[in-house]
Amino acid sequence: MTKTPPASIESIYHSLASYYPDADKSLITKAYSMAQQAHAGQKRESGEPYFVHPVEVAAILVDMKLDIASIVTGLLHDTIEDTSMTLEIIKQEFSVEISELVDGVTKLSKITFKTTEEKQAENFRKMIIAMAKDIRVIFVKLADRLNNMRTLEFMSQAKQKIIAQETLDIYAPIANRLGMSSIKMELEDLCLRFLHPDIYYKIAQKISKTKKERELFTEEVTHIIDEKLREYDIIALVTGRAKHFYSIYRKMERRKLEYEQIFDIIAYRIIVESITECYKALGVIHAAYKPIPGRFKDYIAIPKANSYQSLHTSVIGPHGERIEIQIRTQEMHLVAEGGIAAYWKYKEGKFDSKQSGNIAWVDRLLEWHKALQDPNEFLETVKIDLFAEDIFVFTPKGEIKQLPHGATPLDFAYAVHTDVGHHCTGARVNGKMVPLRHRLKSGDSIEIETSALQSPSKDWLKIVCSSRAKAKIRSVIKTQERQRAGILGKELLDKALRTTGTSLNKQEKIDVLQQLAEKHSFSSTEDMYRAIGYGKIAPENMLDIKPPEPTTMEKIFRSATHKSDTHSIIQVAGIDDVLIRFARCCTPLPGDTITGFITRGRGVTVHTAQCTKTLDMDPDRRIDVAWANQGLIKRHVRTRIVATDEPGLLATLSHLISSSGSNITSALVRTTKDRKAILLFDLEVTSTIQLQKMMTTLESHKDVISAERVHI
Ligand code: MN
Repeated sequence: MTKTPPASIESIYHSLASYYPDADKSLITKAYSMAQQAHAGQKRESGEPYFVHPVEVAAILVDMKLDIASIVTGLLHDTIEDTSMTLEIIKQEFSVEISELVDGVTKLSKITFKTTEEKQAENFRKMIIAMAKDIRVIFVKLADRLNNMRTLEFMSQAKQKIIAQETLDIYAPIANRLGMSSIKMELEDLCLRFLHPDIYYKIAQKISKTKKERELFTEEVTHIIDEKLREYDIIALVTGRAKHFYSIYRKMERRKLEYEQIFDIIAYRIIVESITECYKALGVIHAAYKPIPGRFKDYIAIPKANSYQSLHTSVIGPHGERIEIQIRTQEMHLVAEGGIAAYWKYKEGKFDSKQSGNIAWVDRLLEWHKALQDPNEFLETVKIDLFAEDIFVFTPKGEIKQLPHGATPLDFAYAVHTDVGHHCTGARVNGKMVPLRHRLKSGDSIEIETSALQSPSKDWLKIVCSSRAKAKIRSVIKTQERQRAGILGKELLDKALRTTGTSLNKQEKIDVLQQLAEKHSFSSTEDMYRAIGYGKIAPENMLDIKPPEPTTMEKIFRSATHKSDTHSIIQVAGIDDVLIRFARCCTPLPGDTITGFITRGRGVTVHTAQCTKTLDMDPDRRIDVAWANQGLIKRHVRTRIVATDEPGLLATLSHLISSSGSNITSALVRTTKDRKAILLFDLEVTSTIQLQKMMTTLESHKDVISAERVHI
């Protein structure tokens, strides 16, 4: 890396004139002197005056060809935090726009990512929101970070590592996502230098050692390529340069190679006039040099998510070595280097903020932000989007959809349309039926099957990986959950009211419910029902009544599970903290296939899937339930054994039962006139399998006529 001379107000003006000759420089001049005054006397870790830093940051922003407001913000970005400057002064002296930008950068600067996971999520969210609000905030932040990374050597080693890691985790991917590849590459190289100095210097040394040789070689190859293109009347700018250190390092890591084993250190670039020329040039190259299979990528037809466009190919070059070639137009080149910053256009010296509407990614961030209230979910979503590699697949009509790596037909369905996603039942990939969790590959053609009866479930979250699908499914589940909680809460309250001799219907007529809601600070009765449904408040407490006496079975049940309540035994789809009871008709055991019903005033009742009683129930009240912590919970079950009445029978059977691992909580014996004994055992068992084994053991005893599970 070559040392560039320090930035100055003159060098800023000079660069600015190259892309914005009529710029009104007065604001920059003003910001320059105000920042100089504000930072007077302050020093950096390097011993230099602090003011050097904001000037360098402003110079980077000029290199990015940004507008006056961004450059002014660069100059002022550290004044609020470290000096007596206030946002009020900035607003008066400059504009609301600039004071908001400075405020945004100041807030971002306070964010660190090396705290607890939760804090990190919240901070990331703040950053994305700031970015979505005005993308220039992140441009200034990236410039700030770039200058800090360039001067990181003056920090303590511990600090170097923390800042470099954070840069590698957060800022470099953001620069990449915004397509700002030169900033991304420089950040990555600097991170490598401070995180793995040994590797960095080894690569640097080897690259410089072979420099002369390589330059000669590169020159020769570029010349040969240029000649070849000329033969076909293609005027092109051909260049070749060493890849950035970090990409060499990644290649070494990924393929477990030594530096010497990496041949394609040089990337060649062909810049031509038009898109047609790009493909023509590609044809010439492929005709002259043997292409390496699987390495051709057409990012012109299918641009990357960050708008990057180019043709990529690898060929066996003129000297029999492998070379990588990128072909693009001048316009694509500007975008490739500067990313979305290259899109900013000037209109009478005004920043055209409408341009940000073109950046679909930023728009999507805001959409998710609205859909995902939980910062952790939001972080996860953004991270997926930030770091994932994309695949490209086709609709039956040949339309292209871009999805993250690992996407399934369900992701595709959501990419087509939210409703297609919600009702997706299956898919055909390249004409073949596949399961929903099938992983798609680039180039797949996908046809989605839908049914009006289908709707999203929590399990789908495990199948999808695109942020869009996740957000859509979560929002449906949240709505369902709210609705169910509302229904449930209303019924629980009704039940509690009935114990006081009234009912919901009667109370509704005399407005008592509204008063009850207000008394407990709910904004509406619906809110109150939901709170009850979610188990946040018990209706008995609201009404100041004693909870109803539990039934005998409930007493037994409670004593057996006093430590782990029903919540931890049963999971109810979409609802946490709900009242759960086991149906008396079929008394399900852990291991039984079960189904739940939202029942009037009793929360969710769990039946075995086979229970005939469930056939009569309203299917709309059905809810998915599952056993949790299987094997850890004891459940009560009653068995009825008919046996020949022999002396010592009770002792023998008790022994058989307890040696199978079950606990007998009560036993009742009755004998009949024909010398038969009927024994009722109440047992504690942990699973259906355990019960079945025990029954088999009992039945095989010589005196036992029958053994069966009975429902209480
Ligand atoms: Mn700074």
